[in-house]
Amino acid sequence: MALPVALEDADGPRAIDTHAHQPTGEFLHDAGGQMMQDAADRFGTDLETDTYENMIEEYHANGVGRAVLLGWDAETNTGNPPVPNDYVAEVRDEYDDFFIGFGSVDPLKDDCVEEARRCVEDLALSGFKFQQIAQGFDPSDPEHRELWATIEELEVPVVFHGGNSTLGACAPGGRGLKIKYGNPMLIDDVAAEFPDLRILIAHPAYPWEKEQLAICQQKGNVYMDLSGWMPEYIDEQVLHYAKTLLCDKVMFGTDYPMLEPEPWLEGFADLEFDEELQRKILWENAAEFLGV
Ligand SMILES: [Zn+2]
Repeated sequence: MALPVALEDADGPRAIDTHAHQPTGEFLHDAGGQMMQDAADRFGTDLETDTYENMIEEYHANGVGRAVLLGWDAETNTGNPPVPNDYVAEVRDEYDDFFIGFGSVDPLKDDCVEEARRCVEDLALSGFKFQQIAQGFDPSDPEHRELWATIEELEVPVVFHGGNSTLGACAPGGRGLKIKYGNPMLIDDVAAEFPDLRILIAHPAYPWEKEQLAICQQKGNVYMDLSGWMPEYIDEQVLHYAKTLLCDKVMFGTDYPMLEPEPWLEGFADLEFDEELQRKILWENAAEFLGV
């Protein structure tokens, strides 16, 4: 089934993907390491790398005109090297009409506050991404308050991972990763204490979707996206909220290169959201949240 909404207008493709990773070795191999290989083995995907040119061509062919490209620094907890913020900024500069660059700082590193400042003030990155399970930290812990206060002061949005993670899947001990850090309730504290911090909880936060919906509903500064899940597997209640109470807060995201825009958008079309809702979810809500 085709989407009733027109994904292209005179200015080109309109959809905005709020959640994309690098299709290169920097993310898939270096930062991802063995925990990424576990996920790939479990879900039958390969970790073959690709170029940004091919990636952007694939997006454009499917009506997607912009994507948030996420940094990654879980070095302290995983021992894997980060996807450096300078690299994210470099890629963004090379394809600046397509990518919106989000930095990543490791909250367990002593210089995380300075690095957050450098990301925005020197590298002109547009926000931050945290993956609490890989990074092994509890966002509600008071020791991270200075970091949240700094990002709030820098006036850029932040993406937190929501829900379980496939990283380390089926390995003994899940490679030591603790999924409790993906519980969105830990983000509710941050949202309450930093009301001017704009927060996007990435992914339907399985198995805590209800908690996530409650937070998005009660906190004016918290939003969510549908990335990381093929539409057919998204919880019914999430879809119901996306159509009703949260129709101005739910956004399209893939989790590229693990999920790709074409099959995701085809699956989304099958959900039969009306045209106005599709516009909101596929680009209007993201344009407002990201200020693009
Ligand atoms: Zn992701």
